[in-house]
Amino acid sequence: MTTQFDVIVVGKGNAALCAALSAHENGAKVLMLEAASEEESGGNSRFAGGVMRFAYDSVDDLKRVTELSDDEIANSDFGTNTKEEFFDDLFRLTSYRTDPDLSEILVTQSLDTMAWLRAKGARFVPNFGRQSGMVNGRRKFFGRMPIEVSGGGAGLVQYLDATAKKSGIEVFYDTRAATLIFDGERVMGVRVQQKGKPLELRASAVVLACGGFEANPEWRTRYLGPGWELAKVRGTRFNVGDGLKMALEIGAAPYGNWSGCHATGWDRNAPEFGDISVGDQFQKHSYIFGLLINSEGKRFVDEGWDFHSFTYAKYGGAVLQQPGQFAWQVFDAKVKHLLRSEYRIKFMTKVSANTLEELAAKLEGVNPEGFLKTVRAYNAAVMKDVRFDHIIKDGKGTVGIDPPKSNWAQALDTPPFDAYATTCGITFTFGGLRIERETGQVLNVHFHKIPGLYCAGEMVGGLFYFNYPSGTGLVSGAVFGRIAGRGAALAAKSKA
Ligand SMILES: Cc1cc2nc3c(=O)[nH]c(=O)nc-3n(C[C@H](O)[C@H](O)[C@H](O)COP(=O)(O)OP(=O)(O)OC[C@H]3O[C@@H](n4cnc5c(N)ncnc54)[C@H](O)[C@@H]3O)c2cc1C
Repeated sequence: MTTQFDVIVVGKGNAALCAALSAHENGAKVLMLEAASEEESGGNSRFAGGVMRFAYDSVDDLKRVTELSDDEIANSDFGTNTKEEFFDDLFRLTSYRTDPDLSEILVTQSLDTMAWLRAKGARFVPNFGRQSGMVNGRRKFFGRMPIEVSGGGAGLVQYLDATAKKSGIEVFYDTRAATLIFDGERVMGVRVQQKGKPLELRASAVVLACGGFEANPEWRTRYLGPGWELAKVRGTRFNVGDGLKMALEIGAAPYGNWSGCHATGWDRNAPEFGDISVGDQFQKHSYIFGLLINSEGKRFVDEGWDFHSFTYAKYGGAVLQQPGQFAWQVFDAKVKHLLRSEYRIKFMTKVSANTLEELAAKLEGVNPEGFLKTVRAYNAAVMKDVRFDHIIKDGKGTVGIDPPKSNWAQALDTPPFDAYATTCGITFTFGGLRIERETGQVLNVHFHKIPGLYCAGEMVGGLFYFNYPSGTGLVSGAVFGRIAGRGAALAAKSKA
């Protein structure tokens, strides 16, 4: 059976939905292909917490994205995330490797794309719960990311899906794209397996938006390195590198940090793949207020280097490198009220004790003497004359220990003590394809455009290296999804 469309979009996460909506508004007849069943559809986007990082200078910019009441405006300090600040974060965290052209597009189009998402039905709200605290009676936002999508990533997918349905965009579920139909010059469609049966689907242009290879243990070991097959997958089980494989097979250029990925601390006993009923809550992002302890009882990272938004995506990898691939996060009673909501869910690997000695005996897999020695040295190294302040990088660090703790260092001395066992949860891989930034068209290994082939989302290489500022995945999926959808629709039109 052969069917003809203008644009086929492979995937049904945020990037794919944005590409489909954008292609549709540019006049294309669009088909989306989703490897998952309708029930499991939506990719990693559906698992996302829903924080969104975009450039804004003022409350007026935020009002393009969400409704804010006069009260909210009067009683909140939303800060800024100017283009310069966003650039600085991207460059600083990627060790100055991020592709300047791609990151310029991401940063400069981020606000406009958020407004476009709103016009496509997405609803955004201030992130009071996770990104703010009270200072002198006023709510102050930190981390340069005050807005989240209502209902999290699942909400975003639902909003965009509803608009796609209304627009008449067709979706084939249980349809796994397998290879591209390529005549040696241009891409003309996709060969798929639909409920186990082969099918050829023709289109003037194809947008690949079907994720990285984070759910493929063999590829993880191959590209990220030994041990990565042991990571848990935080999201969907369907992102196994199919889109990358299809594109590389016809000569597309690989690009970006193929040995790098986004990975966080994740409950040690979480299931192999994400559980949509728990979403992102297996994560444990409040380690900045405590200590991370490995099996030898030692610390191994600077827990307080920066807000978690700027360290969490690489500390999962640091946990994976520890013996046994686990770490305990240890807190005392002074910071209990600061721990995020994920520390209060039903499914957690947690122990508590009234003394450090009692706690040491309860930390499964940890050398107790090593742990007690580490805590004694840490407590003695904490700066006593600097005030603790969780809303800012308070500079309350340690002196004379390695690794240091640069901010939010307080002695671990107030019972009861709580500890949470974590391992590494992989979110998504950084390696992708090289694209032409204005259209999202995929380039071949000689940097020539491949007619008819576009890509978006996790599949775009060159943006993230080593690390990642939180909230950028969904926004980059939307920015490059919108671009690729438009590029593909215009290409289809010009061919017609
Ligand atoms: C637990 C968790 C929390 C997160 N929190 C945030 C957050 O708060 N903010 C943020 O910005 N980012 C967050 N992220 C990252 C964010 O989810 C991703 O960056 C983003 O969703 C990627 O979007 P995408 O469309 O590229 O991929 P996905 O959403 O993963 O979509 C890929 C799609 O392709 C489909 N697919 C795969 N292979 C095939 C095939 N062969 N044929 C057809 N379809 C196929 C999949 O089923 C899926 O529908 C989080 C991720 C996770 C896992």
